Amino acid sequence: MKTPIVEMDGDEMTRVLWQMVKDKLLLPFVNLKTEYYDLGLLHRNETGDQVTVAAALATKKHGVAVKCATITPNKQRMEEFPQLTRMWSSPNGTIRTVLDGTVFRAPILLDELKPVVRGWTKPITIARHAYGDVYKAGEIITDEPGECSLTFTGESGEVRTVTIAKTSGPAVLQGIHNTEKSIRSFARSCFQFALDTKQNLWFSTKDTISKVYDGRFKDVFDEEYDGYKARFERAGITYFYTLIDDAVARVMRSGGGFIWALKNYDGDVMSDMVSSAFGAIAMMTSVLVSPDGNYEFEAAHGTVTRHYRRYQRGEETSTNPMATIFAWTGALRRRAELDGLADLAAFANKLEAACLDTLSSGIMTTDLVPLTEPGFNARAVTSAEFMDAVATRLIIENGQWII
Ligand code: NAP
Ligand code: MG
Repeated sequence: MKTPIVEMDGDEMTRVLWQMVKDKLLLPFVNLKTEYYDLGLLHRNETGDQVTVAAALATKKHGVAVKCATITPNKQRMEEFPQLTRMWSSPNGTIRTVLDGTVFRAPILLDELKPVVRGWTKPITIARHAYGDVYKAGEIITDEPGECSLTFTGESGEVRTVTIAKTSGPAVLQGIHNTEKSIRSFARSCFQFALDTKQNLWFSTKDTISKVYDGRFKDVFDEEYDGYKARFERAGITYFYTLIDDAVARVMRSGGGFIWALKNYDGDVMSDMVSSAFGAIAMMTSVLVSPDGNYEFEAAHGTVTRHYRRYQRGEETSTNPMATIFAWTGALRRRAELDGLADLAAFANKLEAACLDTLSSGIMTTDLVPLTEPGFNARAVTSAEFMDAVATRLIIENGQWII
């Protein structure tokens, strides 16, 4: 390796898996070069969360990062960790703000785990715009008749008002916004990721009803696409805009294999729909892509606290490490592409193939067993046993993988 991968360690069960993945599946095969940042909750606290910002800035510098799941403290965590000086905000949120990126989530497919929608033979990647709309809304509940209006006061002093409704009784009101800058970054991240992964890009909104608001999203995507059109044509991929109702129908009838970009709320809902149809949360990859092409790979799930409690009692757990392993292989492959390291890319592919082969042979963690086809002979193993089975496949088929 020439350039380090930014490594962000995390919390609880995933921190345990993290070390296990490195010990069993990476360090014996790769001369791994990382720049290590400990994003474990207590270290974030000790550094006043500066370690999270430093890790995000390092990602901007080196271009590729891999992140372990982390605890986002809430009231309950404040009681569990009395030494916390603040209820630190979500590390993912902090990193996303620094990188200005969009999260892309896709299922890891396996023949033995059929999606609920039978036609989906290739992964559907969801890109959710992660800023604004109802997630940053002002809301009012009223108890008398009245008039509701939306007012914008510009810095120039210009005032613009539009009447939303005259209400004759109690009502609920909501004001939402988005920014041109955020929509544009979202569009660029989507076009960039489509090019990098050579997949068609779909985008859908409700611009027939929301002509100005959603219409602006559509127009910004159209404007940004002008800058990518030639590269899309060269790569043999397409950009396709359609109304969200039409998109939903088409997605259901599709065979998958494309990226579906969605506004914040639509993306929240549709990503849960798509991931449940594909199976398990630990079989989802997740990558944050900045508009200028920096990548941060992670698992889509959290720190799996319930399993960690068992681990703390000395029990071996059967926590699924697939998403964590694929976060690493994603980062290694991206690093390999950027630095022209064919051996490293081959290793990343090999490791993924070894994981899938292990699952296909019936060796899997307990979460996957109920998802297999009837008659399939699945054997539930611990996380360590699963990784050992994967490692065996790497060694047997390749001798020594020293890169
Ligand atoms: P979670 O860690 O995703 O776990 C929820 C449940 O999903 C688990 O109890 C487990 O079910 C199942 N599960 C998740 N990952 C699994 C895996 N790899 N293998 C097997 N089963 C798995 O979500 P949570 O319990 O809501 O959150 C725990 C902590 O994670 C919180 O402190 C939260 O702040 C943090 N979090 C971090 C991220 C991130 O860093 N990206 C994302 C979400 C949450 P069973 O117990 O039924 O087996
Ligand atoms: Mg959701």
